[in-house]
Amino acid sequence: MRLDVVSIFGEYLAPLQLSLIGKAQTQGLLDVRVHDLREHTHDRHRTVDDTPYGGGAGLLMKPEPWGEALDAVLADPPAGARDEGPVLVVPSPVGEVFSQRAAVELAAEPWLVFACGRYEGIDARVVEHYRTRLRVREVSLGDYVLNGGEVAVLAITEAVVRLVPGVIGNAASLTQESHAPEHDGLLEHPAYTKPATWRGLDVPAVLAGGDHGAVDRWRRDEALRRTASRRPDVLAGLDPARCDARDLAV
Ligand code: SAM
Repeated sequence: MRLDVVSIFGEYLAPLQLSLIGKAQTQGLLDVRVHDLREHTHDRHRTVDDTPYGGGAGLLMKPEPWGEALDAVLADPPAGARDEGPVLVVPSPVGEVFSQRAAVELAAEPWLVFACGRYEGIDARVVEHYRTRLRVREVSLGDYVLNGGEVAVLAITEAVVRLVPGVIGNAASLTQESHAPEHDGLLEHPAYTKPATWRGLDVPAVLAGGDHGAVDRWRRDEALRRTASRRPDVLAGLDPARCDARDLAV
């Protein structure tokens, strides 16, 4: 998978060299390229922003550097790129709220390009233009406002890259966690490790009983209960066809 990230703060993206994402690069599973938007300016001050038409507070990112920077990235496709090109991911508080489902979809792509906004965001014509050439996804981390898209890119890439085959050693762990489609999108059950008793709190006896069927049932029940109390919206979307009679009793 290739990831191209365009930003005016490339240093913010240094964590992409660490941990599992860094290791995936040394293993050849991932190729991450960070590009400086200011390389595509042509004035002495390397200006990327200007005042908004219509007035108002703050500055907006100008479209010309973005057009040049993204065209330069698109002119250098990786081997195996799709005919329709990469998905252009534009972090934005006005985008679709990022989810595990979106992470699964993006992890199936061979090439993702990220455009990190700053200031009051990017001139709207940039997204409008690239929508005519590419698949564009404006993606929000949630209903709050960050200073820039870099933190969103770190979160999105971490969620996506761990789903790329080979990145996580034990692939089964990906299907047994919160929000996983294989787990019906439920929140994960409570989990425990040794010791069996800590500060007067015991691990539920069923988990140490050796009855795998009973353990599976307990985990499913706890996942359903947790989801019902913390995320009733998720539970409401549960497909009844995926439930058995004992699920419905919880
Ligand atoms: N004026 C914009 C608005 O009100 O929607 C906010 C711009 S924000 C200060 C600057 C940049 O931070 C955005 O262009 C985007 O790249 C990033 N950003 C801010 N909040 C975000 C969020 N919730 N999710 C993803 N990216 C975000």
